[in-house]
Amino acid sequence: MKNPFNNIPVHFTGATVTRAEPCRICREKTGKQIGIVEYWDIKTCRIVMCETCSHIQLDPMLNEEETAKGCYAYYIEESLRTTKEEQFKNCERNFRRGVVFGYQLKSMKISPQSVLELGPGSGYFSAGLQFVFPGVKITVMDINRDVLYFNQQHHQFETIREIPDNFRSSYQDKFDLIIARDIIEHVTDISKVLTNVNEYLLPNGLFHFITPNGREDIWKHYLTSKLENTPSELLINHVNYFDGKGLKKLLYQNGFLPVKYFTYNLKTTIRGQGWKENRKLMNPVSKKMKADFFINENLGDLGKFELSKEDILHKWYIQPKSKWITRLYCLFHHFTIFGISPELNIGHEIYGLFIKDSSAAIKRTTFV
Ligand SMILES: [Zn+2]
Repeated sequence: MKNPFNNIPVHFTGATVTRAEPCRICREKTGKQIGIVEYWDIKTCRIVMCETCSHIQLDPMLNEEETAKGCYAYYIEESLRTTKEEQFKNCERNFRRGVVFGYQLKSMKISPQSVLELGPGSGYFSAGLQFVFPGVKITVMDINRDVLYFNQQHHQFETIREIPDNFRSSYQDKFDLIIARDIIEHVTDISKVLTNVNEYLLPNGLFHFITPNGREDIWKHYLTSKLENTPSELLINHVNYFDGKGLKKLLYQNGFLPVKYFTYNLKTTIRGQGWKENRKLMNPVSKKMKADFFINENLGDLGKFELSKEDILHKWYIQPKSKWITRLYCLFHHFTIFGISPELNIGHEIYGLFIKDSSAAIKRTTFV
């Protein structure tokens, strides 16, 4: 019997084109066009795969203003689509993941003091981390005022209104852990973001991220282009689609060394994402959803988040005085039994924990 996994990762087909903007990683001026997406009615972009560094990006890239507008429209669309019960469940789930992550650090004898989370969402991942390390100071960075207000009110986290691409010198050497869960696929300039993260970290500081396996994440858009020859709809601004090998190399170049780096969750691969040419796996064809209309029409429908943190965390297993119960329960739900190398480009999501290589920082300043 033929083994379908022999075909993974798939070799993408497409014409070589001159890019509107050079590759954000290696500055290459040409690339292979593997699709076209429409970001709401805001912008039409080609999806271009760099033939030098294998990174897949939008070309041209969305600018700050376009991203902010689309993100806000998506934030409203998602809030309306997600029931209150689901939102509460998501908070609880993220809290449990934060607890698991906290105990992983503890088992490595690491106790963070000052943490920055980029794009914190509900803030419950960091709240879980804080459950394990009650003394840790959490700061969150986002561009969405609602997100920052919620994190400040709900968790009393410090807030910074900024995008990770812009450097803020006042945060240089301030944090011993920076978290970016499902963020790096959204940023305009990944090279700048990694440079900034490195600068914000103290010597030997840690960088933790999760991000989709780019080969699988792009598959649905690639299929729409290949099978329908038409633009697909991009509602959430995934603008980077990472290659497991290229991402690791980029982290090395920016002064990070891997502590843990693996891909997990193979269910989507088994269903065909990333290798199977099936119409059912295509992304919907673009309808050019109107971002302005969506924001203005639906803004009033956004309900208030009524439950307090105490209500959300009022669960039998969350026991500040018997934390081993919490730890066991969270591990039971979220422990990854096995991970595979992201360099194979198989699986749903990439998990990274990297350490700032202080010797690399010294080398960089010496040779500038
Ligand atoms: Zn490149």
